[in-house]
Amino acid sequence: MKLHTRAVHAGDRKKPGAAVPVTTPIHTASSYFYDRLEDLDRVFAREAEGYCYARYDNPSNAALEAQVASLEGGHGALACSSGMQAVHLALAAALADRPRSILAANALYGATVGLLMNVLEPAGVAVRFVDVCDLESVERALAEQKTGCLLMETISNPLLRVGALDKLAALAHGANATLVVDNTFATPLLLRPLERGAHLVVHSLTKYLAGHGDVLGGAVVSDAEHFEPLRALARTTGPVLGPFESYLAMRGIKTFALRMERQCSNACRVAAWLAGHPSVARVYFPGDGGHPDAVTVRRLFPEGLYGGIVSFELKGAGRDEVFRFMDALRLIVRATSLGDVHSMMLYPVMSSHREVSPKHRERMGIRDNLVRLSVGIEAVEDILADLEQALGSLQPAGA
Ligand SMILES: *Cc1c(COP(=O)(O)O)cnc(C)c1O
Repeated sequence: MKLHTRAVHAGDRKKPGAAVPVTTPIHTASSYFYDRLEDLDRVFAREAEGYCYARYDNPSNAALEAQVASLEGGHGALACSSGMQAVHLALAAALADRPRSILAANALYGATVGLLMNVLEPAGVAVRFVDVCDLESVERALAEQKTGCLLMETISNPLLRVGALDKLAALAHGANATLVVDNTFATPLLLRPLERGAHLVVHSLTKYLAGHGDVLGGAVVSDAEHFEPLRALARTTGPVLGPFESYLAMRGIKTFALRMERQCSNACRVAAWLAGHPSVARVYFPGDGGHPDAVTVRRLFPEGLYGGIVSFELKGAGRDEVFRFMDALRLIVRATSLGDVHSMMLYPVMSSHREVSPKHRERMGIRDNLVRLSVGIEAVEDILADLEQALGSLQPAGA
């Protein structure tokens, strides 16, 4: 054969031998073929299992999807190119055969609020917000207007409120609304929303699940009822994760439970330590006995697993003092995102809640002296030492 022909054919498309690789390889092929066209025809018709085109499915993604679905106890999962793609796909699937109306928790990830207000509402979806920690308000809102979907996060950001997911699921079922739960902050180690009555679960794989700050990805995990419509929608709109990212996410997820256990125990120690520090005005942590949702937390989360995020307010601080404190951090990384192996701190007023007006922020309880710490897997003594020296920078000189 000529060089041009060999350049296209040599080396590739060898049948695998008897040996099986211990981890799923990165399958980058965009399409697949079979010995007989008949077989491809049956795969296209979905009468036979198999791959035909990477927008539909891909062995690397399928392995990750099986892993995530298994962790959440779902019927199936779809790997998406980002957490936001996953939120968008889940909402589209939730509303497919229901009234185009979303009742959303009033504390949601910033970009999710943006998706609701700037994309879905202009497209004709009615969007209302409710305090999901107030069951009576939710019940009233569901009675007032036909609702296609109830959307919430297991642990809210950044004030870490925890709604009674099982009771909210009962209300959603009663109103024939699809319950979509973003479980990014809690992870399936703390709570599996599908087991509590949710229909669709969303993850930003970027955070705790992948966990190493090296890959962007998302997933929708579905119950049996919603899986086929969800998959049909994904096949058409193509939000799929690339195979390289699938590989990284899957590799990260293998250690997620170990990491999360450590992050949760570190966070318990950090929250207790911060609560006793004279420069700290207030600590927000779901494991605190005085947390407003403490009863729900004890009921839904396993003992000692309250998440790896601790938010806190610096006493008498404004933006300048917060900047001084954060600039003094040496170990804790000053970056957005959360759930990585390394501890990281974010200033919500500057980042996640930047687009929210100061007045609205005040109403949400997000003050100018609030910071959010994602506790990593480091030795907790080193995290505390870094906080201690950085908090020391807040003392006036000579004090
Ligand atoms: C980060 C995050 C998202 C969005 O995920 P991306 O991977 O950044 O697109 C959605 N929900 C929550 C709770 C998040 O923390």
